[in-house]
Amino acid sequence: MAYRNSFKLGLLGAVSLTACSTVTPSSSVVSADVMAIHQRLMTLDTHLDTPAFFDTAHGYDIMKRHSYERDGTQVDYPRMVEGGLDGGFWAIYMGQGPLTPEGYQQVRDKALIRATSIHKMAAANPSIFEIALTSADATRINATGKKIVYLSMENSYELGEDLSLLDSFYKLGVRMAGPVHNGTNQLADSANPGPLGAKWGGLSPMGRDYVKRANELGIILDGSHSSDTTIEQMIDLSATPIILSHHGCDGVFEHPRNLPDALLKKLAAKGGVIHMNALGAFLKVLPQSKERTDALAALRTKWGNPNDLAGDKYEQYLNDSNALDKQFPENRATFDDYMEQVLYAIKLVGVDHVGFGADWDGGGGVAGYDDVTMIPKVTDRLLKAGYKEADLQKMWGGNVVRLLKAAEDYKASLAK
Ligand SMILES: [Zn+2]
Repeated sequence: MAYRNSFKLGLLGAVSLTACSTVTPSSSVVSADVMAIHQRLMTLDTHLDTPAFFDTAHGYDIMKRHSYERDGTQVDYPRMVEGGLDGGFWAIYMGQGPLTPEGYQQVRDKALIRATSIHKMAAANPSIFEIALTSADATRINATGKKIVYLSMENSYELGEDLSLLDSFYKLGVRMAGPVHNGTNQLADSANPGPLGAKWGGLSPMGRDYVKRANELGIILDGSHSSDTTIEQMIDLSATPIILSHHGCDGVFEHPRNLPDALLKKLAAKGGVIHMNALGAFLKVLPQSKERTDALAALRTKWGNPNDLAGDKYEQYLNDSNALDKQFPENRATFDDYMEQVLYAIKLVGVDHVGFGADWDGGGGVAGYDDVTMIPKVTDRLLKAGYKEADLQKMWGGNVVRLLKAAEDYKASLAK
């Protein structure tokens, strides 16, 4: 397609010259006028799960343009350029395991490897990516044309029973952290609690110390994946506003991963921000056919975990997976479903308290909003809904940078 060809030429320019060279991609998803506005914004997504691919058997070349249709991935440098995504918070995601010394040690080591992999991405492409450590870094790095790489932690299971590890992850660059993922852990009750249930009634005693230490370090606390009670206690306890880095509203669709209106208002009243998740199952009920469910189970039996596949085996797995999707299409949520959530949140709490964290490469994305090349569509919709460029700048990055500044200021106030 002409659009993709012209993009490739633009990218070659970006790679062969320096990151300072201006790349102005055209977009097939919005008008040139809207794209021009979108390009002027500094756009940050607060939950990029792409680092989960870095340590797979087949690896992930962030500099190569992948295809969502082929491998289901949603973020790489060429597509960030294409969609005008300037960066975000790149997650150290760890799945929940047993609360045992062995479990803690294993996950700690994996989390350290993941943090290193994010640093490697930046170190291997120093004219393309830069690690961001302060609130001021966002605009500074953006002005150079490089992509902004903040580090975040999704689940803090890897701290085990040693809170001083939070200091270590801070030193590795982590500036946003959430206590829990799927499965209540040593720190907090989860929105999806699993066998331990709501063991703590919110935060555990260690979880309360964790909130305090995150404040002292200048880390933004992230309530996504926490239970509503945990989130409420984080709002009450935290010295600085908290974020929900990829979340939704119960007011549109009731789900444990979405927030009741009253709690969202409380979050906003304390200066906090909700970044809207585009994960289909949190947007509406999406029944899948028995044929598809059975075929997915058979695919899993045949290939095991695709993360463990490399080379031809991985390509053959993708062939099978693509054929399955063609034969038994997934019942997906749509871009309209996503925008309903976004517009609802803005109406409820205002442009100072909403942003975007679509859960790219972590299960997010809906029909018509498949990967980061599509993000100008949100800008387009919000402009059509009457929001101004200044409003968009807050939502696309200003709000989360404000939260990081508040976290830094609090840390500095303690040093006096
Ligand atoms: Zn998540």
